Amino acid sequence: MKSIAEKASGEEVYKRLSRSLKPDWRDYVALVAERLDGDKHPFAVLAAIILSQNTSDKNSIRAYMRLREEIGVSPEDILRAPLERLKEVIRPAGLVNNKAMALKEAARRIIEAGGEKILLEMPWRQLREFLLSIPGVGEKTADVFLQLVRRAPVFAVDTHAARIAKRWGLVHEKAGYKEISKALLEFFGPERSEEAHRLLIALGRTYCRARNPRCEECPLRDICPYAEKVLAAKKGSSPSRS
Ligand code: SF4
Repeated sequence: MKSIAEKASGEEVYKRLSRSLKPDWRDYVALVAERLDGDKHPFAVLAAIILSQNTSDKNSIRAYMRLREEIGVSPEDILRAPLERLKEVIRPAGLVNNKAMALKEAARRIIEAGGEKILLEMPWRQLREFLLSIPGVGEKTADVFLQLVRRAPVFAVDTHAARIAKRWGLVHEKAGYKEISKALLEFFGPERSEEAHRLLIALGRTYCRARNPRCEECPLRDICPYAEKVLAAKKGSSPSRS
């Protein structure tokens, strides 16, 4: 299997993506929560990431803005709110039964463990285990939080990152979360992982779409192994085998 790493370093790819894609913080719910409320309430960022599960940032931003205006974004606010009211307020994010329960459970456990300051003070590996023990918090949710709030050396893998890592040949087709996360962290380096995560989302939205990737216009077309296949198929010839 050919890999993009044979043609360019993670640093070079990062620079190219940074030059061509200019992610706007207003398009990412975790960044919206961090900018608006993260200073006072690190829990707000976790709540925003829970809201973003299996839905678009657009929907989760709508739900987050309603949450902060109508209930509040501290763990105490969430725990105090009646469950049905919480579900109603976060409705734009979808899956309201699961998400409301995850928010309640996260709030309760964090308060019991000492309050939201533990999100900033607990050693990050221990915090990762703690977050993963909360029903409704999976590896991606925990890693997005740890990358953004703690600058921990992890790489959060969403559907865009997984698809792109496979197309780049950094992992095989059947690779799971851990393998993809490790490969992307090694490729980009821990110092770039948080921004690289966001750049991969922007790349996936703009060029490297699940269907009909726009390889002709992509800033990585000359170094990406998958582009060879796509462009060859468009010309009607067989792609070269790796
Ligand atoms: S060249 Fe094509 S497959 Fe490669 S990253 Fe760009 S859009 Fe994705």
